[in-house]
Amino acid sequence: MASRDEIVAFLDEYLNVPAYPDKSSNGLQVEGKEEVERVAFAVDTTLRTIERAVKGKADMLVVHHGMIWGGLNYITGIHYKRLKALIENGLNLYVAHLPLDAHTEVGNNVGLLHLLDLEPKGPFGEYKGLSIGFYGEFEEPQPIEKVAQIMAEKLDTTVRTYEFGEREIKTVGAVSGAGAFALEEAYRKGIDLLITGEFSHADYLTAIDLPQSVLVAGHYKTETPGVKALMEVVKTKLGVNVFFIDEPTGL
Ligand SMILES: [Zn+2]
Repeated sequence: MASRDEIVAFLDEYLNVPAYPDKSSNGLQVEGKEEVERVAFAVDTTLRTIERAVKGKADMLVVHHGMIWGGLNYITGIHYKRLKALIENGLNLYVAHLPLDAHTEVGNNVGLLHLLDLEPKGPFGEYKGLSIGFYGEFEEPQPIEKVAQIMAEKLDTTVRTYEFGEREIKTVGAVSGAGAFALEEAYRKGIDLLITGEFSHADYLTAIDLPQSVLVAGHYKTETPGVKALMEVVKTKLGVNVFFIDEPTGL
């Protein structure tokens, strides 16, 4: 058991929440019960994840994608439904978007490198003046197929690769989710492979012309490592019960 305020203060500090210029309102988005015994973790805020958190007797739901992005003007439609479900059940909603991508210990991007047994060598993936990703380096260059096989196995998903670079893979840059904005930076910095979650038609055209090799593993799947790693920290440091709600989007 811990108090809501204690958990919020711990997370705000551990994740360095105030440092991030983010469209997401990070931190405690919706206030619920004061005492917290069980904390649920999920990638997204949907009615389904809220329901599953309530069913699992959680007092707090910690997510990567919250429900407030750059303000909330009308409490109607899905906003009303989600808010109602949260408030009626006294469920606290805590959100960590960019702070959870960028964190040096439990971040999604460090987590993606760890899946390949790589340690972060330096920052990568500059977004609004702040690097939210990392790059790592294999000791020996690897064929892209091998990297893809490991990622697919570890994330339990299918991955797509676009082998546009001319070299085998030595350096890997990771930007989870919608990380294709880092294509040009990857090329400029000589990163052999960009690992990200989403890849659009327009991104393809950029990648082929740079040229830059890319591995796409899904927005949802690339943002599970951080949520799961943060869950372990909360369990250990705050002594509360935790559980993960898996709601893959397939995207
Ligand atoms: Zn995301």
